[in-house]
Amino acid sequence: MPRCDGRAITIVTVGALRVFRIPMRTRFRGQSVREGVLLRGPAGWGEFSPFPEYGPAECARWRACAEEAAFTGWPAPLRDRIPVNAIVPAVGPEQAHAMARRAGCETVKVKVAERGQAFAEDLARVEAVRDALGPDGRIRVDANGAWDVETAVARIAELDRFGLEYVEQPCATLDELARVRKRVEVPIAADESIRRAEDPLKVMAAEAADIAVVKVQPLGGVAAALRVVEACGLPAVVSSAVETSVGLAAGVALAAALPELPYACGLGTLSLLEGDVVADPLVPVGGTLTVRRPTVDEAALARYEVASPAWVRRLEEAAP
Ligand SMILES: [Mg+2]
Repeated sequence: MPRCDGRAITIVTVGALRVFRIPMRTRFRGQSVREGVLLRGPAGWGEFSPFPEYGPAECARWRACAEEAAFTGWPAPLRDRIPVNAIVPAVGPEQAHAMARRAGCETVKVKVAERGQAFAEDLARVEAVRDALGPDGRIRVDANGAWDVETAVARIAELDRFGLEYVEQPCATLDELARVRKRVEVPIAADESIRRAEDPLKVMAAEAADIAVVKVQPLGGVAAALRVVEACGLPAVVSSAVETSVGLAAGVALAAALPELPYACGLGTLSLLEGDVVADPLVPVGGTLTVRRPTVDEAALARYEVASPAWVRRLEEAAP
């Protein structure tokens, strides 16, 4: 079992570090597999799964999150169920309608501004989701920073015909987000603008968003993320980094420990993976996740475990 001496992990038995590689059902961030290290300590299992482009300094926070899960544990939950949103990717309207119906969530996040698609396709998709959800369902759209300011202002107004809860990352930069925010009624959420612990404070200072999308691994764990959210003062939507149930449990713990949770969270992402490393995966039922912490199941892990000294090295080298 690894031992945690302050910031350093001493790997006493490499057997306690388990590397996984799980194919994805849908490509995400250009990836077709999700990989990482599972780390077992006295408090339970932790997941270290930074995306490939992150270097050692950025990975340090992801490692801190895994160490917290394995060695420290999490702050006490304030609620036992977390509402989650369904996701409708850049598909056609019939498929979007069917996906929104099938998901059984009150809140659906709809991808817009997909490269190579016309705006008419966004409108048709959002209209189809509104039709599927009925007037009481909530629709948020995510442009992943694709629009410029003028495009964002015009398109948000058009899409809001179908009633939007908020728009996630309409433009790429904080300055652009702030300018859009002054000109539209629909609340703005910052997602890609928040990748490091200091980012929510920058979003707040720039008056760039009404809502902060936060992910527990890049913010350095549950306790660290709670401090960041408190300092930034914006309502938070806890989102996943498309982890296994081990990593998702940390996001669920953050959502459960936040003093306020006014929006459905983006933690219903396990269905993006072909499989999982636990026997009782953290999948939503009726649009909510139960706050719990599944443990690694050896038979489940065996399907996806790989020998990867490179991943163990990446964990060891993750340092500020
Ligand atoms: Mg997003």
